[in-house]
Amino acid sequence: MFKDLLPYATWACGAALTAAERLLAGEVDVAFHLLGGFHHAMAERAAGFCYLNDVALACLRLAEGGKRVLYLDVDAHHGDGVQAAFYRRRDVFTISLHESGHTLFPWGGFEDEIGEGDGLGFNANLSLPAGTYNEAFLDAFDRVVLPLLAAYAPDVIVLELGMDALAGDPLTHLSLTNHAHEAVLERLLRRNIPLLVAGGGGYHVENTVRGWALAWQVCAGEQNEHDLSLGMGGVMLGSTEWAGGLRDHDRPVTPEQRRTVEPALRASVDAVIRNVFPHHGLPSGAGASGPAASEPGPAATL
Ligand SMILES: [Zn+2]
Repeated sequence: MFKDLLPYATWACGAALTAAERLLAGEVDVAFHLLGGFHHAMAERAAGFCYLNDVALACLRLAEGGKRVLYLDVDAHHGDGVQAAFYRRRDVFTISLHESGHTLFPWGGFEDEIGEGDGLGFNANLSLPAGTYNEAFLDAFDRVVLPLLAAYAPDVIVLELGMDALAGDPLTHLSLTNHAHEAVLERLLRRNIPLLVAGGGGYHVENTVRGWALAWQVCAGEQNEHDLSLGMGGVMLGSTEWAGGLRDHDRPVTPEQRRTVEPALRASVDAVIRNVFPHHGLPSGAGASGPAASEPGPAATL
């Protein structure tokens, strides 16, 4: 508990609902809700720094407005509160990519949690092993999220863009750079589906601020070439230090990282394809997890 907890929590909900209303009214195509993304809050229980689930409320409002909603969560932690809110519904499809519940709070979010009743097949969890790096993350994203996105064809996307999956975050064990978040945003924006972006978590303050600033810039369609050249300027071994622009340094991937990450991630991708894809008319048999380039639509080129 802390002073002004209730205004803090309700402001986030108000902002999320305002974003949802503006999207429903067609006033904006992208709404950026920086404070939002309290995805661990349950209907009757606070958890993980989250008191009231603003993103679940936004999804609910959008669904009430007659929209098919895709909730996509790339925060390092499983979006358990949003999963719970819509576990028996299919009008809000929840997909969470997060560090495995074997190594991180909230210790769940596994591939066999695929929804129930009406919602069966409309919840997908992809577990990322500790050390997951951009290339592996984006490959998994393309194999799992893009086909489901194409098949579900949502009217609106609510994206939880947590920055705690960035390398150097003190609470988590993933090794992404903000290029990954930028790539996710670009893949979604290219589809011209109304988008609500919520900030989510992030506990390395500098990295988080730069990541969100970059995300804002991408959403506003104002990529800065000068910044790009600085960010791409070189690999600094193991460092997450400021690269001179909004973009992180590229991070080298060690052979050991590849050895540990690739098999675990492949197993998770295969499990989602096996468990969830059949509910959407997508191939789930042998070879379904072949090259991501076979993914339908133009986004496979990035
Ligand atoms: Zn988080």
